[in-house]
Amino acid sequence: METLEFQSEARQLLQLMIHSIYSNKDTFLRELVSNASDALDKLRLETFRDKDLVADTSDLHIAIEVDRDRRTLTVRDNGIGMTRDDVVSLIGTIAKSGTAEFLQKLAETKDAAASQDLIGQFGIGFYSTFMVADKVTLVTRHPRAEGVRWESTGEGTYTIEDVPDAPQGTAVTLHLKPADEEDRLADYTSTAKITEIVKRYADFITWPIRMATEDGAEPTVINSRKALWARPSSEVTEDEYAEFYRHVSHDWNKPLETIRMQAEGTFEYQALLFIPAQAPLDLFMRERKRGVQLYVKRVFIMDDCEELMPEYLRFVKGVVDAQDLSLNVSREILQQDRQIQLMRKRLVKKVLSTVKSLMTDKPESYATFWREFGAAVKEGLLSDPENRDAILAIASFDSTDDAERQTTLAQYVERMKEDQQDIYYMTGDSRAKVEHSPHLEALRAKGFEVLILTDPIDEMWVDAVSGFEGKQFRSVAKGQVDLESEEEKAEAEDRRKDFADFLAWMTTTLAERVKEVRLSTRLTTSPACVVGDAHDLTPTLEKMYRAMGQ
Ligand code: ADP
Ligand code: MG
Repeated sequence: METLEFQSEARQLLQLMIHSIYSNKDTFLRELVSNASDALDKLRLETFRDKDLVADTSDLHIAIEVDRDRRTLTVRDNGIGMTRDDVVSLIGTIAKSGTAEFLQKLAETKDAAASQDLIGQFGIGFYSTFMVADKVTLVTRHPRAEGVRWESTGEGTYTIEDVPDAPQGTAVTLHLKPADEEDRLADYTSTAKITEIVKRYADFITWPIRMATEDGAEPTVINSRKALWARPSSEVTEDEYAEFYRHVSHDWNKPLETIRMQAEGTFEYQALLFIPAQAPLDLFMRERKRGVQLYVKRVFIMDDCEELMPEYLRFVKGVVDAQDLSLNVSREILQQDRQIQLMRKRLVKKVLSTVKSLMTDKPESYATFWREFGAAVKEGLLSDPENRDAILAIASFDSTDDAERQTTLAQYVERMKEDQQDIYYMTGDSRAKVEHSPHLEALRAKGFEVLILTDPIDEMWVDAVSGFEGKQFRSVAKGQVDLESEEEKAEAEDRRKDFADFLAWMTTTLAERVKEVRLSTRLTTSPACVVGDAHDLTPTLEKMYRAMGQ
């Protein structure tokens, strides 16, 4: 037997669980059942792919056993199991991207409700068992390895030893904390209580969950096992959707919006998609996962199916169940399959149109959506030219019109002055910086509204997108902003003549630093400003490229 130490981040998370900062302890069971269900999915998949794998798949199921006298609760599955290395790396450490940031944020958060939000977003999985147990024992065997037993009180170290005769799959036994008199509701040795939790959190799990509901009785199946996406929408409650969302997303919060889709005909499929209410911590990290789950005829095929959701909609969660694919379908096949490409197109259109309808039907949900995911969605303006207009139609931007509220492009166009041809924008690091920029002065004087674009991605798409409803996007920091009437132009010409000598002198004097010195009408109070050529990089882009070492 060996004693090993938890990785430090894991230790911190365990401390959080032991001191139980999360108020709803019932959720530990959801995590265990969810892991067991995943393990059964994985085993079935492995046996499809590898015919030589020695594993019994005749009765895949989850079993829950309660021992009142010894105060133990066991969740057992005969799924894929774990090797010794798996146990050490999966249970002893937290490899999830964003863990460090998560812990940092949590440490800084004083408010209990905000902490819960954060934890929900992170999802704590297996460690949640330490909310209700003072010792956890896990016995597991992978079909290609010897069995192992892992045990810990959650206090810094765990033990691990070989168990050659362990059965296939994983059994997690919780040694429940002493009964809490005040907390009779949380009696996890009560089979009625366990049945209730399973019904609430895991009814849709497609594997049978068995439990003996009375002493000495035969175990019976306690979940209804119905795939939510195959049931008529009218029959599924919001709570059921929310539970399912938690299962697929590992996010404890409610989804912002639920989307259902049904396609009949030659290529039949059903989709149940969710838009989260909060961006995950790793939304902009390179190693983040994306994509929805793919099922074929109710059978789980893969997680994170990137072929079904573009990068810029990476936050969309859910399930797509296709009727006409082979169970052996691989990533390579998916990438080439025309039906899959069509399906993806329709899913994307559906997500975008759902957001569009939020704008009118649920403006608050829309505002949340755009605040959380707008910066990611705008990437689609570059990567998905086909849906450019649809994306522009659901976009919102800061603007000089209103410091409190963002504007859509349609609203901007509606407010455009009669003599205004273009949609003016200025990019920069922050609203304050842009607002104090001398570039804005002339437009302000004219009463023209300017969009304030502060996301890094804004620099990229404004160049690629030609316009919105026939109006061009025009940077106020680039080239000659043509704001003058004929009369003003004549006046300017006169002034240019007056200043010709002076300008020539300035141009020679500053030759090393600027291309040209010219009189401008864009300034009203500042004496001078530096502008780029129409084809030059904007100041922010220039900075970005410089930061990247170019
Ligand atoms: P998550 O499920 O979000 O990955 P968990 O903390 O719930 O995080 O579990 C960590 C990992 O441990 C899982 O991803 C899985 O690889 C492994 N694991 C947990 N429970 C089981 C189980 N019953 N059978 C096989 N592997 C498991
Ligand atoms: Mg889990």
